[in-house]
Amino acid sequence: MIEPFLTAIPIIEQLEASGFQAYFVGGSVRDYLLKRSISDVDIATSATPYEVKEIFPRTVDIGIEHGTVLVLFQNKSYEITTFRTEGAYQDYRRPKEVAFIRNLEDDLKRRDFTMNAIAMDRNGNLIDPFHGQTAIQKKVIETVGLPDERFQEDALRIMRAVRFFSQLSFSVENETLEAIKNLGPLLKNIAVERVKVEFEKLLVGENANKAIRLLLDSDLYKYLPGLKNHKDQIEKIISISFKNLNKIEMWALLLFYLNLKDKSAEVFLREWKLPVKEIKEIQEILYFIKKRMEREWVEYDLYKAGREVLSSTEKLYHLVKGLTETLSLPYWLKRYDELPIKQRHDINVTGKDVMEWFQSEGGPWLRETLLKIECAVLAGDVQNDKEMIKEWLIKCSQK
Ligand code: ATP
Ligand code: MG
Repeated sequence: MIEPFLTAIPIIEQLEASGFQAYFVGGSVRDYLLKRSISDVDIATSATPYEVKEIFPRTVDIGIEHGTVLVLFQNKSYEITTFRTEGAYQDYRRPKEVAFIRNLEDDLKRRDFTMNAIAMDRNGNLIDPFHGQTAIQKKVIETVGLPDERFQEDALRIMRAVRFFSQLSFSVENETLEAIKNLGPLLKNIAVERVKVEFEKLLVGENANKAIRLLLDSDLYKYLPGLKNHKDQIEKIISISFKNLNKIEMWALLLFYLNLKDKSAEVFLREWKLPVKEIKEIQEILYFIKKRMEREWVEYDLYKAGREVLSSTEKLYHLVKGLTETLSLPYWLKRYDELPIKQRHDINVTGKDVMEWFQSEGGPWLRETLLKIECAVLAGDVQNDKEMIKEWLIKCSQK
């Protein structure tokens, strides 16, 4: 076995020593078999959340009602989930209440895809009643059990199928694909927050281009926030060969092609429940792409954008222009690094200094003067030096 499983083995041993069963499950086992990098190691156990909490001194309740406790162990955290079945589903959503069980196989049975329904014990033996390993070898995404039933139980699984399609470049098994095409409308019942998690993973997947194609071909896009009337615009995104973009850049690219005005762009991103900070960053990128279409960067724009937004904007600008490489990026980053100031705070003059020099109280004139200084320093009209700025200001005011 390999890391990060090795470090987690003592957790399984402790559960077993207390008389419970415990296994590695889910994405980590799948990614291990795929020789992909493993993110978090999840553990499934026959112990109830309360029993888990009695065994480990440091735990966080992150979803007790669903059977999940976070265990902090040797500076790492592990989600430990009690074997469960999901009983009756309501409104095509995952159930509010789950039943804890003591049997591993029934727990694997409630999992979404066969590749995600493999358990591994602490010696590396696999428990694979639904032939997930075969699916992994054949690179196919197939539901555990009948796709229609499984998607009706929890329609989020439809989105999860497409995001795994994007991340893993697997194909989708025929009946699973049929069900995806037929059951899209059920997505309307799923909380946007959950859909967003899958959609963002889809956007940055290695096969994102084809996954977006699949969203169109299966009509799923119609049931995602704000995309219903934009088939043609989404087609345009597929026609360009983007890769290695982060999720913020993907949102910006999407919005660029949706061509929504500022306010509607914000409404769209709010509908997707993005955090305000991310919405701001995406809007900044969109603003600078539009500017970039008109002209090259000037000092003040480089400064206003900042390194990250500059770099995202430049990448996206080249993509939408049909260029695959962003050759000019190092040049603009160098120009950015050479700016005399990176933020207003870096100016060697304060509002207080300026008020003293002119023997005046604060007011709109002060803000204007500080802006003037900022622009002049950036343009190289004056050096970022207190005395020099003072001289320059006084000379300007005498003109
Ligand atoms: P990732 O590597 O992106 O975390 P993952 O497969 O681990 O992928 P998670 O969302 O972390 O995905 O879920 C962990 C496991 O829980 C899955 O592998 C699957 O077995 C199960 N699972 C998650 N969501 C569902 C769902 N909606 N329906 C059924 N099983 C699910
Ligand atoms: Mg996971």
